[in-house]
Amino acid sequence: MTRLSVLLLAALALLPAPAAAQVFPLFDSHIHYSRPDWDAYTPERILSILAKAGVRRALVSSTPDDGTLKLYEKAPAGIVPSLRPYRTRDDMGSWPRDPAVGAYVEERLKRGIYRAIGEMHFGVADVPAPVVKQFAALAADRTLFLWCHIDDATVEAMLKTYPGVKILWAHAGMSAPAARVAELVSRYPMLWVELALRTDVASGGTLDPEWRALFVRHPDRFLIGTDTWVTSRWESVGAASDAVQVWLRQLPRDVAEQIAWKNGERLFPPP
Ligand SMILES: [Zn+2]
Repeated sequence: MTRLSVLLLAALALLPAPAAAQVFPLFDSHIHYSRPDWDAYTPERILSILAKAGVRRALVSSTPDDGTLKLYEKAPAGIVPSLRPYRTRDDMGSWPRDPAVGAYVEERLKRGIYRAIGEMHFGVADVPAPVVKQFAALAADRTLFLWCHIDDATVEAMLKTYPGVKILWAHAGMSAPAARVAELVSRYPMLWVELALRTDVASGGTLDPEWRALFVRHPDRFLIGTDTWVTSRWESVGAASDAVQVWLRQLPRDVAEQIAWKNGERLFPPP
């Protein structure tokens, strides 16, 4: 070894080790364990995938709801049950006007474990429909969230029509731009927003400046989520969570902690 390389090694030894990247614990606000998943993944396997991805607790809804119960029975501390109104996928389009769905949800809520109704899909014309109205009354009565996969016009109509109900807005409306989300969040205190599948928040890994400003202004209103809407999605839960960690690290630490974990813990406190 030359004298120079000895000196170089000595100098390197004095440098501090690179800091390990910050990894935030996650509250995942968008998980499903629906019937097609049951044969491919046992509840134990699902729980281990979530744990490996850094998910400490998750808001789960499934078609049918028994999928959620399978996970909840194994891990009541880590699974926050949301009651999905779909008994099968066939209910997806017809539920707002189907009294049988309303009766099913009322009956099922008697278990007393649910913290939300949803995730459910509908359009602006369904806002006054009888079963939507019934769910809003149930949610207000039992302080449950309505977890809604709806567009921005529909979420605004919900917030105006049912002002006493807490709304968890799935995917921030999927396509609503940050400016529109900002407008709604400022105007409606009963609106919380989850960001599953919103790759536009940090496309290419760099946090978008408009979303960043919105998170800094309203750090208590946003949650992260994965959305396991098809069985194959379970293969990428880890990668999806890693991608979220990358943009969380670009926020002030206290803002990142709220979005990663603390908002979920506050809104759905452990029983
Ligand atoms: Zn979903």
